[in-house]
Amino acid sequence: MPISNPSMPSVPDGLYVDDLALSMGGLLITAHTTAHQATCPSCGQSSRRVHSTYWRTLKDLPWQDRAVTWHLRVRRFRCGHCPGRIFAEPVVGLGSRKARRSERLAEAQTDIGMVLGGEPGARLSRRLAMPISGDTVLRLIRRRRIISSPPPRVVGIDDWAWRRGHSYGTIVCDLERGCVIDLLPGRSAAPVRDWLASHPSVAVVSRDRAGPYAEAARTGAPAATQVADRWRAT
Ligand SMILES: [Zn+2]
Repeated sequence: MPISNPSMPSVPDGLYVDDLALSMGGLLITAHTTAHQATCPSCGQSSRRVHSTYWRTLKDLPWQDRAVTWHLRVRRFRCGHCPGRIFAEPVVGLGSRKARRSERLAEAQTDIGMVLGGEPGARLSRRLAMPISGDTVLRLIRRRRIISSPPPRVVGIDDWAWRRGHSYGTIVCDLERGCVIDLLPGRSAAPVRDWLASHPSVAVVSRDRAGPYAEAARTGAPAATQVADRWRAT
């Protein structure tokens, strides 16, 4: 059932819809790309030499309370300028070459997560026909923080509860700007250590007086100054 794009305004340019299948599980849109060429990400030259095709699956914004999934046939091209270089064509409007959700879906789910947090955000998102896990909501929040924030220098690390008395996570705040910059799973040393190791801009870590956060700061940011908050319970 070929469908022209003007009848479906949410179909990005450069895609041709081959089939729509509606079920209780949602709407499955099968489509293929139509561009005659693609631009090599290494040298910027365009190529028309198709190497192979493959299928991508992407989640998108819901349609009429149904979850939407794209089944896309896309191509790999061979660059005529970079020896041996083969690259996948982008699908403009539906996220990066490896994305598993469209950019517009990721934006909506990040907005929900920024207000509600990981697991509650995932529950509301599922209710709105945008299925996602709590961990993925946290990853989306983290990605937005990384894109939109300058590197943090002074951070505060503390534990917090998704629900009082139930599962705990770790909250990381930028103390200079007074905002939350990340939410980590659990309250053990390992995720905090890894986070600090991947943020070498951190020069000062404020934490509670003992326990896993002290160890995490010692091993993840050995050059940073540690400040133990004496007003916190240990
Ligand atoms: Zn090239």
